[in-house]
Formats: sequence, C-alpha cells, structure tokens
Amino acid sequence: MKSNMYDQARTWNPFVGCLFDCIYCRYSFQLQTKRQKQRCPLCAEYEPHFHPERLKRIPRASIVFVCGYSDVRFALESTMLEIIKTVEQLGKPDQTFYFQSKAPACFEPFLNAFSDNVILLTTIETNRDAGYRAISKAPPPSIRYKQFRSLDFPRKVLTLEPLFKFDHEAMVQMVGEISPEYVWLGVNSKRRYKALKCLPEPSAEEFWKLHDTLSQFVDVKVKTEPV
Ligand code: SF4
Repeated sequence: MKSNMYDQARTWNPFVGCLFDCIYCRYSFQLQTKRQKQRCPLCAEYEPHFHPERLKRIPRASIVFVCGYSDVRFALESTMLEIIKTVEQLGKPDQTFYFQSKAPACFEPFLNAFSDNVILLTTIETNRDAGYRAISKAPPPSIRYKQFRSLDFPRKVLTLEPLFKFDHEAMVQMVGEISPEYVWLGVNSKRRYKALKCLPEPSAEEFWKLHDTLSQFVDVKVKTEPV
C-alpha cells in the first residue's frame, strides 16, 4: 500500500528557511538544516535566505522538491524568478519540479512563468481551523485550501500529511474542489517524532476511510500509514 514515490525524489535547496514554525518541522526539516551549522548559520537557524551558489546544482532525480527545506512564501520575488528561470533552463524533460507552500497565494504572481514540468503543492493537515494556531503560523486550513483552489494552474498535488483529526465529508469536499493530480496521504507517525505525541492524529479507521473515499475519484499515494 505504501508508495515509494519519495525514493525517486531529491530536494534542491537554493532557498532555505521559513517563519511558519510548524511544530512538526522542528523534528524534520529544521533538524536537517541544523546539521549545516558550520557551513551556514542561517540554515541552522532556519532564517529565510537565498543560496545562489546552489542554483546550478539541480539534482538528477525524476522528482525534485524545489526549496524543500523552506516555504517559498518567504522568498523575494527576484529570488523566485531566478529559481523558476533555472528550472526552465537546466531542468531535463524527464524531471518534474515540485514547488510547495502553505501560503499558496504566493504562487499567484508566477503562474505564467512556471514551465510545463512544474507541479504546485500545498499541505492540508485537516479541515479544522480551531486549535491550528498551536500547530503553525501558516494560514489556517480553510484559507489555505481556498488560496490553492483559486490558483489557475493545471498541475496541482495535495499533501494530506501529517494528517490531524478531521471531518470526513469536509476533507473529501476540499480535495474534490481542488481536483489535484493525486494526493499524498500520511500520518505524523509517532514512530518518527516521539516528542510530538500531542498532535491530534486521526484513528487508523478514520485514516483508511478517508483513503478509500478519496480513492474513488483521485489517485492516493500513502506515505506513512497509521500504526
Ligand atoms: S511551512 Fe514547511 S518549512 Fe515552514 S515551518 Fe512548516 S513544515 Fe517547516
């Protein structure tokens, strides 16, 4: 059941950092960049900043997560344009480039600049706004989903991971309205982030019910199954 999509993916980080401060990021992306402390203190602090020297180092992977250790919402317009131009000029025809943001309205000024091999993503962990501020400073799920839905762009993917407690019908409706190419589905996995036991995870039953309903109209790739 678990998808191996991530095995074919690499992250390319010409821009690093984010101020949304998602609680689960401290144990994933931010932990990774802290290891760069000797080479770049800004990476260690997860301060938004540009690494232009990395522009020409696009990985040779079929899927490239562009600025995966960041949210490009915090990139300057000039930085975004340089990254988009580099993807167009140096990306290979067999590569797909994923641009992700939890504030997807930030893509609006660039929709006509993205090349055909670009997919836009956002993460929606739940349909519920209540209590979300304790998780992240990103736009709440209801705003984020509307921003993503309104983007006039042909290629979208949704990440429902880490999935929090949700309302089944509302989640299904959100996904249906966005109409993504496919959905990544996963839980936070207490196995990976033991310190995050406070996160309001769905039960395995709720998880698989959502999986089965979504699978009736969209391709669902399971990233992390509930234990
Ligand atoms: S939006 Fe992404 S990069 Fe930013 S803090 Fe949250 S998980 Fe980390």
